[in-house]
Amino acid sequence: CGIVGYLGGRQAAPILLDGLQKLEYRGYDSAGIAVIRDNGIEVHKKAGKLLDLRQQLNGYMPESTVGIGHTRWATHGRPNDTNAHPHLDCQGRFAVVHNGIIENYLTLREWLTSQGHVFRSETDTEVLSHLVEEFYMGDMVETMRRVLKKVDGSYAMAVLSLDEPHRLVAARHDSPLVVGLGDGENFLASDIPALLNHTRRTYILEDGEMAVMTRERVEVLDRGGSPVEKKLFIVNWEA
Ligand code: GLU
Repeated sequence: CGIVGYLGGRQAAPILLDGLQKLEYRGYDSAGIAVIRDNGIEVHKKAGKLLDLRQQLNGYMPESTVGIGHTRWATHGRPNDTNAHPHLDCQGRFAVVHNGIIENYLTLREWLTSQGHVFRSETDTEVLSHLVEEFYMGDMVETMRRVLKKVDGSYAMAVLSLDEPHRLVAARHDSPLVVGLGDGENFLASDIPALLNHTRRTYILEDGEMAVMTRERVEVLDRGGSPVEKKLFIVNWEA
């Protein structure tokens, strides 16, 4: 399973799909991408191999320079098109990809349902997009801090917001996540091989850390929201 993310000056979709291909060795049963368009978040996802997703796209690449991608190893909910990530909130303003397990998802799902949220999938992950929607008050960083306080379990995740289309927010706990630093572009991936076509300058995220990314800048915050002085990890081996 794996996560990728991109923001920069190039088209995101091909970069996301190539990145996911580099993570195939981790195993998966479904794949998907979400990108920010002018009029909404566009999602393409499919059970099966990346090739199945590529066949569904049939050469089509949504035009966008900001996006996230996912390969799923199903833990909660069958491997089918609906359960594949990314997952959206009710209004399609937020998209989430997640590797890991949200242990308290049933309780959260019940609570969110009582608040009027309608769930589309059987996954534990979908509580994340609805929690973001429930808590969003104009700032993704603050929203993520509130969401992370609510969830128990393991995660590497990345979130897109239509209200903050030039920002990508990611967080990890007990699941790997690496930031790749480019020139006027930045990358996110579960593992270094997905970055090596683009950059060797990375930040390895630690548990409890959140990355707030724009195409020009990456800020890493700890659980309390304080900036972390990250050490640059330069990859010096061949892919
Ligand atoms: N638990 C999530 C799901 O079943 C994520 C699985 C994964 O790590 O890919 O959808």
